[in-house]
Amino acid sequence: MAHSENTDSESVNDGALVDRLHRPLRDLRVSVTDRCNFRCVYCMPKSVFSKDYKFLPRKDLLSFEEITRVVETAARFGVTKIRLTGGEPLIRNDLEQLIEWIANVDGIRDISLTTNATLLTKKRAESLRAAGLQRLNVSLDAIDDETFKRVNDVGVGVQDVLDGIENASLAGFESIKVNMVVKKGLNDHSIVPMAKFFHGTNQILRFIEFMDVGSTNAWDLSHVVTSQQIADRIQAELPIKPIEANYKGEVAKRWQYVDGGGEIGIITSVSEPFCGDCSRARLSATGSIYTCLFASSGYDLRPVLRNQGDAALQKEFRRIWSQREDRYSETRTQFSVIRPKVEMSFIGG
Ligand code: SAM
Ligand code: SF4
Ligand code: SF4
Repeated sequence: MAHSENTDSESVNDGALVDRLHRPLRDLRVSVTDRCNFRCVYCMPKSVFSKDYKFLPRKDLLSFEEITRVVETAARFGVTKIRLTGGEPLIRNDLEQLIEWIANVDGIRDISLTTNATLLTKKRAESLRAAGLQRLNVSLDAIDDETFKRVNDVGVGVQDVLDGIENASLAGFESIKVNMVVKKGLNDHSIVPMAKFFHGTNQILRFIEFMDVGSTNAWDLSHVVTSQQIADRIQAELPIKPIEANYKGEVAKRWQYVDGGGEIGIITSVSEPFCGDCSRARLSATGSIYTCLFASSGYDLRPVLRNQGDAALQKEFRRIWSQREDRYSETRTQFSVIRPKVEMSFIGG
């Protein structure tokens, strides 16, 4: 790939970069598209994301060369993990090219992808794995067709996703996790059936509390089933015990089945926020950096990416992260005025 010349006169120091709350930058989530073949009611409701919705024109998306330049810059400042997301990232047919380039960036040790898995054919799973993708997170919000179709709102059945998981499993991914967003009244009756289905398999099921991301999903605290309530419901049928985190800053609280049937995770963003350890930045498909999932606005890197050299890009990156003080989940109840927030389908989960 083409690398830009470093034409800036000002040099930039590498090394540890921390934000105003002393949090390092470790993890970059990259959204490669705002489009999706699902219309999950909690993420891209049809009332907003209709046939007339204006998705981003192709020319506004970052090229893979530009994304790789951002990843190279982020890696200089401590990022080791890249997660590709969207929208539905597998809509981009040539994603393997981007993965290959990212896998060659010095310092990047972990590349993962979040997907609804419906486009994960055997061939696609193999080519993604061969390109250097290591881990997959597959979203699946119910194990019965009726509920799942109600969630995705495009009539896709559960088997399509299970086939994708099977294809990924055969392609030899290091880890495949299954993510279930729990929304009260929509799919919370699926908590125990999902736990039973994935109990004893190689896939770790993770429950995600329904979050107030974006401004279109009509979020309300009364729709949240808390981490404790989720654990209690599982505990009643399949005994579990809490276990240690794998590493500092791990977003999911881990639980193990007492009978040896593996583990589950619960992501407690609403009931027990984890902003203190948050080392994640997000890059939108249009090239803006968001320093929080709940940010109202991002920092547009495109002018620097398109008109200036690497030193200018590094300087901008340093400026953005060093002034960061986001901790939305710890403070959400203090906001009396609802402010606009970026959509999840735009910056990825
Ligand atoms: N389309 C891909 C998928 O669904 O896996 C990747 C993008 S999607 C925005 C990433 C993750 O965000 C998914 O696991 C999805 O369930 C989750 N998500 C979307 N809206 C959410 C919300 N309001 N609360 C919690 N999680 C949400
Ligand atoms: Fe698409 Fe993923 Fe959002 Fe569902 S959660 S609408 S699959 S981007
Ligand atoms: Fe990180 Fe923002 Fe989520 Fe807190 S609310 S954990 S700062 S993304």
